[in-house]
Amino acid sequence: MGTKARILVVDDEPGFRKTLSDILRAKGYAAVSVDKGKTALEMAKDENPIVALIDLKLEDMSGLEVMREIKQRSPVTQCIVLTGNASQASAIEAVNLGAYSYMHKPYDVEQLMVTIRRAIEKREVERALRESETKYRLLIHNLPNIVFKGYRDWSVHFIDDKIDLLTGYKKEEFDSRKMNWADIVVKEDIEKIKKIFLQALKTDKSYVREYRIITKTGDILWIQEGSQIVCDGSGEIEFITGAFLDITERKRAEKKIHDLAYYDGVTRLPNRQLFREHLSRALAYAKRHKRLLAVLFLDLDHFKQINDTLGHHVGDLLLRRVADRLKKILRKSDLITRHEADDSISYVSRFGGDEFVLLLTDLKQPHDAANVAQRALYELSKAFVLEEREIFVSGSIGISLYPSDGEDIDTLIKNADTAMYHAKNQGRNNFQFYVDSVKVTTSERRLILGTDLRGALEHEELILYYQPQLDINTEKIIGTEALIRWLHPDLGLVSPTEFIPLAEEAGLIEPINEWVLRTACSQNLAWQAAGFPPMRVAVNFSNLSFKQRRIVKTISRVLRDIGMAPQLLEIELTEGTLVRNEKETIRALEQLKELGICVAIDDFGTGHFSLYHLRHYPFDAIKIDRCFIKDIGAAQDSTAITTAIIAMARGLQLRVIAEGVETQQQLTFLRLQDCDEVQGYLFSRPVPSNDIIQLLSTGIT
Ligand code: C2E
Ligand code: CA
Ligand code: CA
Repeated sequence: MGTKARILVVDDEPGFRKTLSDILRAKGYAAVSVDKGKTALEMAKDENPIVALIDLKLEDMSGLEVMREIKQRSPVTQCIVLTGNASQASAIEAVNLGAYSYMHKPYDVEQLMVTIRRAIEKREVERALRESETKYRLLIHNLPNIVFKGYRDWSVHFIDDKIDLLTGYKKEEFDSRKMNWADIVVKEDIEKIKKIFLQALKTDKSYVREYRIITKTGDILWIQEGSQIVCDGSGEIEFITGAFLDITERKRAEKKIHDLAYYDGVTRLPNRQLFREHLSRALAYAKRHKRLLAVLFLDLDHFKQINDTLGHHVGDLLLRRVADRLKKILRKSDLITRHEADDSISYVSRFGGDEFVLLLTDLKQPHDAANVAQRALYELSKAFVLEEREIFVSGSIGISLYPSDGEDIDTLIKNADTAMYHAKNQGRNNFQFYVDSVKVTTSERRLILGTDLRGALEHEELILYYQPQLDINTEKIIGTEALIRWLHPDLGLVSPTEFIPLAEEAGLIEPINEWVLRTACSQNLAWQAAGFPPMRVAVNFSNLSFKQRRIVKTISRVLRDIGMAPQLLEIELTEGTLVRNEKETIRALEQLKELGICVAIDDFGTGHFSLYHLRHYPFDAIKIDRCFIKDIGAAQDSTAITTAIIAMARGLQLRVIAEGVETQQQLTFLRLQDCDEVQGYLFSRPVPSNDIIQLLSTGIT
């Protein structure tokens, strides 16, 4: 570099300005620093800096405004935004305004220097491009270039002498019709340029097209052809005339710029931007052809440590080797089918830092993605030899799948990233699917639910559903079971199996229970008031809630408040409540019995207590757990247990309810065994109270 590259530093912190300018000067740059936006703009005009390092927060104007103005005055000045407070929005805006890069303070000196070097490189290319464009524009206007006249069959009637200089073929070779123009056009480009010709024929008969030709020495050149189709009176093509221009240099510069914008400078892999474009195309393909695809987010473990101890130089080398190994996996992978269509190829890209992202298209099954991840981990585990040093690394991989984990670019990338963090949490050097990482975040969900539960009652987010219980012989509804649900504002309907234990932990079970009891009894009376015959309503009490000392008092108070006959209330308790022969439990049960309230043992058969022991407890009914009912006819054990439970209950003169009845066969079997009542999806799912009215008036069929 002859003259020193000029760099403008714009920052309102004097200390920061000074240190940065000193560093830049030490690195051989001509640094100028200013504190105000206005001064920066004046400087930019006079000094025409190559690179501007701009702080976002300035006293008189925002760094983004400064950048916008600089870019307007001198588009080739490369702006790098440096900022102390990182916000995604300002980063995006900076890049949209044409910032070359965006860095956080405190910045890493070496990283900053690399970025500055690349920015200078980019400016050079852009400047050269601008120059050559102006040059060519001049040429087009002043010189006819290589003028020709030809026919529709590509034969040449006349061509400029200069064709020799361009292609190495003599003018005479074309003139004598020994050669056609098509002979030197690159085959792949023929279709494309024919299309443009036919299009022009339909419109104004003139066209400009860019394509490649092969010279006599085998070089490939890009040319631009601007032509006019000349027709005779009857509309037939008479001839074509125009001029060629060599645009190879321009194309090269364009490619360089494209590469700088779409490829990572260190590994030459596609960058985030290009990856998103690939993914977008692959998604469209997968949607059209109903295919499965996967995004693998790979993060090297402890890469920063390597970078810090061995230096950026070794760090960059390592990234390049990692890129090579990942590319090799995709090349070799026989798991991934390949199509002719460009849209269905798998890619590796680097998102920056130590993050690599793989796109696997057209998988046969999710497991294929796991295989690739496994192979990637294996490849990484082999030693890297860098500058005669052996280095060992590992990685953590997160996998998201289309369509199950997301249907758009952002969701898939975000979910793969989430899964990657989960892999890190699992101790690194492993891979995780997004679905599984979500399962683990149920701990997060628990946290949310636990926190929100307190307000649930207050905000009336709890609701009761009712499931009919029927007499097995008449199939008439003789009662309902109240089942609670929580309509969470963000998470939707939450199951009681999920939040009842949380309510117990949080000490909220008592008020919830009372609310259920009150609501269920009021509802039951409301049905009666609407003209339906009195029926029973069953309310569940969890193990813990029944142990509350005040339980009997609470129940009798609620019944009194509402004015419902105690005989219409059934309390459902699980075996667990009774196992330990606690005097208090027995006393509570006896008191309930005295009041005339029914007690049923829920989920019977799942505990390890025999009915024989339970006979000491005063209760009225048992509900055979649905796991036995489900297996009736299929598993001998279940069938035998059901038979035995019903027979024993008969002997003890207990009422038997079968829950979870889903099929006609189950019903028939239960009827033969002399079961009393049934409840299950065969008749109705748990439904809101309004739907019960419907069922009561029309009956269940
Ligand atoms: P549970 O008392 O055994 O309630 C029966 C469960 O089986 C209900 O689930 C019901 O929807 C489901 N079910 C009914 N028929 C069928 C069927 O044919 N097939 C299948 N597969 N399932 C059927 P749900 O409503 O999710 O309730 C789950 C558990 O939550 C209940 O089990 C109960 O232990 C508890 N629970 C529900 N409401 C309350 C409440 O208000 N308070 C307390 N403490 N616990 C409650
Ligand atoms: Ca129940
Ligand atoms: Ca049950």
